[in-house]
Amino acid sequence: MAQKKKRSPRPGEAEAAPPTKRTCGTMDVHYRLLRTIPEYADARAASENQAQRAAVSPAIGRTGCTRIPVVVHVVYKTAVQNISVAQIQSQIAVLNKDFRRKNADIGTVPAPFAPATADARIEFKLAATDPAGNPTTGITRTATATTAFSDDDRVKSAATGGANAWPSDRYLNIWVCPLAGGLLGYAQFPGGPAATDGVVIRHSAFGTSGTATAPFHLGRTATHEIGHWLNLRHIWGDDGTGCAGSDLVADTPNQGGPNYGVPAFPKVSCGNAPNGDMFMDFMDYVDDRAMTMFTAGQVTRMQATLDGLRSSIGATVSCGPVIKKHEPDTIKKLEPDHIKKFEPDTIKKLEPEIKKHEPDAIKKHEPDVKKHEPDIPPIGKHEPEIPTGPGGHIPTGPGGQRQYETSGNEEGFANEQRKEERLQRIEAALAQLTHFIQQSQRPDVSKAPLRKEKRK
Ligand SMILES: [Zn+2]
Repeated sequence: MAQKKKRSPRPGEAEAAPPTKRTCGTMDVHYRLLRTIPEYADARAASENQAQRAAVSPAIGRTGCTRIPVVVHVVYKTAVQNISVAQIQSQIAVLNKDFRRKNADIGTVPAPFAPATADARIEFKLAATDPAGNPTTGITRTATATTAFSDDDRVKSAATGGANAWPSDRYLNIWVCPLAGGLLGYAQFPGGPAATDGVVIRHSAFGTSGTATAPFHLGRTATHEIGHWLNLRHIWGDDGTGCAGSDLVADTPNQGGPNYGVPAFPKVSCGNAPNGDMFMDFMDYVDDRAMTMFTAGQVTRMQATLDGLRSSIGATVSCGPVIKKHEPDTIKKLEPDHIKKFEPDTIKKLEPEIKKHEPDAIKKHEPDVKKHEPDIPPIGKHEPEIPTGPGGHIPTGPGGQRQYETSGNEEGFANEQRKEERLQRIEAALAQLTHFIQQSQRPDVSKAPLRKEKRK
């Protein structure tokens, strides 16, 4: 049980030389919170239920991408530890690659595991507005008398030599500081106290420049810890080196203990031959250059968290050009939702008829939409939460556009306009078809399933 043998660093212990072997304090923190905060166990149970529901029925997760505002609290004793803006930005850049499956080394995933890799659809941005509503760089700097912190959360409070958290329902708090005992970082799982919510990263394992030191100089410690913050467990299941533990994700192989360094593929344990451990997953303990992927199951779990205990954080944004791959799905999801809202009765009767009488009209129309609208942010499961006014109408903003929360308002409105235009075209086509169908009534079509042909 490698991770349990490690000695907990003591507060005030001198910052040692940068570690050469990964150690994460998240499970120690988890067990401490279970012992000391009764509500935490209940919140964890609720979070796990949400995750398991999502695993069975992934459709309940958010669609589109979520952009999360980040505040980086730099807590330093020496000038070197007061890391540069460039080092902080280099970390944000890594997160925006790793959580979007845009990291250049994704291609190194061994072929048998490549199909499991997935885009987590999460982006990060240094906060532009502080909790009081004032402009900010998204960075706070605090001088401390503490030589090195441990995983006891003292870095998260001004009263104990650290920096207070910003409201964790709106910001991801990242504390960057000297850590003792070879600790690279730790996270708090969803469901813990707001005042200590976030992740802590050793400055020498943060970002890709400045004080970042090999083999933890590629920003992957933050990727790993934010994975925990979004409810991911260690891939080996935190049962030491046994085969009974689980990371509660279906598409990761059962694995003995943590892997370290840069393992050679395949590395077999727990009867998982021929492909062995998925040691290149961000939630193992390998060196930065050896970890490159999240799986689809892990993404579902993270998205369930954004749908559950962390539902208040972040704004839904366009996933950008990468979404092209998923466009057919986007279109499928978009149309029934809107159709249901605007024309529930008409459409049920209308659509089966459309296929029978006017296949060409539909075919012509939809490819057009795809061609002209490559960057529409997917609309999905947030929609039922949009407040509706009398008569079920969705509130509109200036110019009649539907109102959405996005971080880039102009981009958001442009997208909304394009969506509105597309919907108008669809609705115009449907109106024509309504007329056509009214002239050739068929009594049995109302029982036909809605757009059955487009669903799997
Ligand atoms: Zn960890």
